[in-house]
Amino acid sequence: MKHTLDIIPLQDWLNTDGKPLIIAGPCSAETEEQLVSTAHLLANTGKVNVLRAGIWKPRTRPGEFEGIGSIGLEWLKRAKAETGLLTAIEVATAKHVEEALAAGVDILWIGARSTANPFTVQEIADALVGVDIPVLIKNPVNPDISLWLGALERINRAGIKKIGAIHRGFSSYEKTAFRNEPMWDLAIQLKTLCPDLPVINDPSHICGNRELIPYISQKALDMDMQGLIIESHIDPSVAWTDAKQQVTPAALSELLDNLAARQAAS
Ligand code: PEP
Ligand code: MN
Repeated sequence: MKHTLDIIPLQDWLNTDGKPLIIAGPCSAETEEQLVSTAHLLANTGKVNVLRAGIWKPRTRPGEFEGIGSIGLEWLKRAKAETGLLTAIEVATAKHVEEALAAGVDILWIGARSTANPFTVQEIADALVGVDIPVLIKNPVNPDISLWLGALERINRAGIKKIGAIHRGFSSYEKTAFRNEPMWDLAIQLKTLCPDLPVINDPSHICGNRELIPYISQKALDMDMQGLIIESHIDPSVAWTDAKQQVTPAALSELLDNLAARQAAS
């Protein structure tokens, strides 16, 4: 398989002092207090580069919390102003892109359900023409490397060179210990195919429960992935989405301390 990606390496647009990039924050922005207080605790660890939060949530079935919407962008602005953390959100439509850019969000990501749809990815790509912002692309829900690469190519052809992939695991019919099967081979194939492409691991959505996160995180770093995106909530027990897989900022800090590659790099 060939690819046509024209990539600016991660270290040229986000300095992490040679350590893996750490993106952390709640699955969903819920309230201003929840988001801002989580951001402060994450920033205080000194180990987090970017604050993540879902503003618009792509739920598999209707009737659940679908995201706080545009008001969350104001909360993110406040979190950034008070902590200095860069901010990242998921975008799934051209309107999301326009609003995120207007609000000064630093990094965009495309979710697994969107990556599986070329029309959606193209709509996002068209909204990014002439814009200079990093975009991270999660693998599609299904284990199809062409679809993943195709989404990366669509965004790249729109002129986005600060581009990366997020490995968040794949849906499987079999019941296993993981919410989404890692199928490491696919992430490795992508890394082999595109050596300059940063690949970041999302242990939260692979595991679906916080207990397995250290194991998957270590494995990802052992495979030379360039970072981790981990869901962290001030009180996971009351989280509105993905409660079982979120960790407190204190637990995240301990988890990061225990990762071998991070220690070696510091
Ligand atoms: C998320 O990051 O909260 C999310 C919805 O992830 P995914 O697109 O990987 O399911
Ligand atoms: Mn989530």
